[in-house]
Amino acid sequence: MAIVVQKFGGTSVADASKIRSAAARAIATKRAGNQVVMVVSARGKKTDELVALAAEITDNPPAREMDMLLSTGEQESVALTAMAVQALGEKAISMTGGQIGVRTDSSHTKARIREISTVRMRQALDGGSIVIAAGFQGIDDDLNITTLGRGGSDTTATALAAVLRADLCEIYTDVEGVFTTDPRAVPDARKIDRISYDEMLELASVGAGVMHSRSIEFAKKYNVHLRVRPAHSNGEGTLIAPESGNNPVVTGLAIVKNEARVSLIDIPDRPGSMSVIFSRMADRQIPIDMVVQDVASEGLAEVTFTVPEGDLAETLTAAHEAIAEIGAGQVQHGTNVSKVSAVGAGMRTHTGVAAQMFHILGEAGVGIGMITTSEIKISVLVARDVAQDALVAIHAGFGLDKAIAESPSVGHAAAESAVASTAQSDIEKVVVENLASMEDIVVSEVQLDVNQARLTIRGLPDEAGVASKLFGAVAEGGIMVDMIVQNIGRDGLASLSFTIPRTDVDQCLLLIREVLEAWPDAKFSHDRKIAKLCVMGIGLRSHTGVGQQMFKALAKAKINVDMVNTSEIRISVVVSSEQGEAAHRALLATFGL
Ligand code: ADP
Ligand code: ASP
Ligand code: MG
Repeated sequence: MAIVVQKFGGTSVADASKIRSAAARAIATKRAGNQVVMVVSARGKKTDELVALAAEITDNPPAREMDMLLSTGEQESVALTAMAVQALGEKAISMTGGQIGVRTDSSHTKARIREISTVRMRQALDGGSIVIAAGFQGIDDDLNITTLGRGGSDTTATALAAVLRADLCEIYTDVEGVFTTDPRAVPDARKIDRISYDEMLELASVGAGVMHSRSIEFAKKYNVHLRVRPAHSNGEGTLIAPESGNNPVVTGLAIVKNEARVSLIDIPDRPGSMSVIFSRMADRQIPIDMVVQDVASEGLAEVTFTVPEGDLAETLTAAHEAIAEIGAGQVQHGTNVSKVSAVGAGMRTHTGVAAQMFHILGEAGVGIGMITTSEIKISVLVARDVAQDALVAIHAGFGLDKAIAESPSVGHAAAESAVASTAQSDIEKVVVENLASMEDIVVSEVQLDVNQARLTIRGLPDEAGVASKLFGAVAEGGIMVDMIVQNIGRDGLASLSFTIPRTDVDQCLLLIREVLEAWPDAKFSHDRKIAKLCVMGIGLRSHTGVGQQMFKALAKAKINVDMVNTSEIRISVVVSSEQGEAAHRALLATFGL
């Protein structure tokens, strides 16, 4: 008999009639010949209310007690849902995370799942009951109640589907499926029929609240068939699958409105500085993003990155610890910024996507504070008061509001293809089979690329349209730009580095020099021989330990890192070409590959 996991989000069980229709849906699925596990969230805004209530009692609620409190929201829902199923004539049993046997670590409010027992669920299913599981919660080794982080019921659902080897995992929510961007923020957003695990993982990680990003990690690692569907209608929703659908080069956009920016300045430019910074952040499980490193003059470097504003206070504490450990430097930070990201599997093979995004922002008069790109994602940091306009402009500019075109509209297909990702998923399967703990980090491969060159331009004005002009010229030359990082320095000037295939350097130099005539103060340098290393896997950015481990290994081998890119599926670093082989060996060793 097939097993189907159906997860119902807060709005989908908000009141008695919604609970009844969720129950009816599960019953229909059971009567069609399936075993059914329902995973249920707290009703409506219950979790928010509980958070607010705690805040009325104390400014600093202990994490353990927060978990004890918040888990009650789901406990209420499972009991009511079980009653509804029984009232409609089917057997049902509700279970808390502890009763199921969802074992987690002890990091309260952001616990990670270690293992899940299937014994009790299977007994109930085989006895003809619908199992109604509380989402978002588990227990640690000392039987403390833990929670998985806000939105974590999605993760419970895909994790249960994984251990039960369910045939399907359906996420019922209050929209028709996954859209090109939040349909509540951009009314022109369109539903996506099919999206890849990688794209959804990146989108969720950079702010698409429709799915908890860790739920996609489970889906990808354990090959869960996942569908996001509306609870209020019979819509087919969105399939989240290994391969992307017929999407344009950009599949979707996401925004983190309340992002903050942190800079560590005047730190020594030597192996180990990055390692200390990443370690201090990882110790506090702060997932940093948009990391830009700038080697300034006189051996002093500057590292800038972004974090969700809610994590800023803790990040600043960690940054001061890092500086104390390094023995030099200062910490600066900025707020009132937002991160806007575009994600699309098509970026792997199309040139000019970044150029087009910068062009759209330039036309809209939006200045770009920071830029980072990775394999299938481009993020820009912009002033918060123009972020929404930027999102809308990018959405329209990439034609995401329109029905899908026959063929992609940007650039041309490059030689690389998706072949590599098929091989990668085979490797991942082997790695996953060896996992002791369900949410362990999966690093499947470390690649060394010695065929790239780096170009750096400093002293550019901080105005709208600069990145657009530069990358527009490079794109016109048909040159595939790989990593891009931009930051605005203390002097208020922008500096920008990017990598391209070494064979294109001469052509690129000509194109760039021509553009730079407009900014005579800008300084331009290049390095024909660099080594780029990519660590590939699943959930790499949010498992803060991966960056930590990478930089520790490189520091131990006395290797200095020139550029960094982080994303959920890949972390890339650029080092000097002489150190490429040594860096490769160090990374392979540290990840046991
Ligand atoms: P649930 O309670 O069902 O888990 P959530 O509120 O967590 O629901 O997620 C659904 C919401 O996610 C939608 O109401 C929508 O506003 C928001 N959202 C953000 N980005 C997207 C997107 N790309 N596609 C669809 N919905 C999105
Ligand atoms: N109730 C929890 C929350 O609101 C978990 C969830 O809904 O997924 O974050
Ligand atoms: Mg949710």
